[in-house]
Amino acid sequence: MAFARVPLSRFGGVFSSNSKLIFRFPNISLSPIRSVVNITSSTATSSSSVTTTKVVVEEAEDSSSSSPPMTSVPTMTTTKRWRKPMCLYYTQGKCTMMDDPIHLQKFDHDCSSGLQVNATDLQNVSAQNLDYLLVLDLEGKVEILEFPVVMIDAKTLGFVDFFHRFVRPTKMSEKRVEEYIEGKYGKIGVDRVWHDTAISFEEVIQQFEIWMTHHRLWDRELGGALRRAAFVTCGNWDLKTKVPQQCKDSSMKLPPYFMEWINLKDIYLNFYKRRATGMMTMMKELDMPLVGSHHLGIDDTKNIARVLQRMLTDGAQMQITARRSSGSLDNVKFLFKNRI
Ligand SMILES: [Zn+2]
Repeated sequence: MAFARVPLSRFGGVFSSNSKLIFRFPNISLSPIRSVVNITSSTATSSSSVTTTKVVVEEAEDSSSSSPPMTSVPTMTTTKRWRKPMCLYYTQGKCTMMDDPIHLQKFDHDCSSGLQVNATDLQNVSAQNLDYLLVLDLEGKVEILEFPVVMIDAKTLGFVDFFHRFVRPTKMSEKRVEEYIEGKYGKIGVDRVWHDTAISFEEVIQQFEIWMTHHRLWDRELGGALRRAAFVTCGNWDLKTKVPQQCKDSSMKLPPYFMEWINLKDIYLNFYKRRATGMMTMMKELDMPLVGSHHLGIDDTKNIARVLQRMLTDGAQMQITARRSSGSLDNVKFLFKNRI
């Protein structure tokens, strides 16, 4: 069963104003993390390249780290220890210390870490109807606090690019924002970078549209739907519930490219015949270690992207599982019934 294409041309331009960013670079203090990262033995960066990988296991010295314990992966080889958290100023295009060797030594500036695919893993990959998959995993229950997207080539399964912004709530008082961020990001040591970099949801969407246009994923003039690409989320909450809510809070129209998506949990159930309650369950069942900090959006998005890559290498086929009715935006049709 497949959905009929819905014309989206009625959803025109959404934003017009330009914004200026004010940024100052602070001293960063990040908690040690425990993670597994891949390093590539090739320097290839294009979307069509597939690189071979060696896996480097990194152990935290601090046992109080907020990251969950790592499970062993029999098929991977531990080659050396390496500890380097991602520079979250860099992920948002705001690192001003790229010429500082100490900073570069301390923080990773390559978001593709952990997302390379072995050429030998591609033999079972099914033909996909989409060229690109945009993994999205929002953070923020009351208002969106983080908007991370990882772009995967649906044919080579290679990492192409990412988009990452921290988002400043519009409806909350400064005091509430302060408490909210302390509670959520303080415990993983990224509250400072959040305060230094967060911008409004409206600005995030403006910048995201520029990013999508750069990758030829989207064209406002052509109706605004994604071109041979789809969002991939873990559950329906992100695009069914949270984005429309945030658009209301931010007094914006729902952008047309958020009208349909792939719920990875639906595909997972169909393919493996097992119901997954969330990302952690899927990773556990697939015997995949968690990378980075759980509930840091960019890390969760990378982990979901790794689950997606794994499902694709196992032969799963991606298809749109949820679509919002163009006539009634509150009405979402699901490809499969009784799903979460
Ligand atoms: Zn940096």
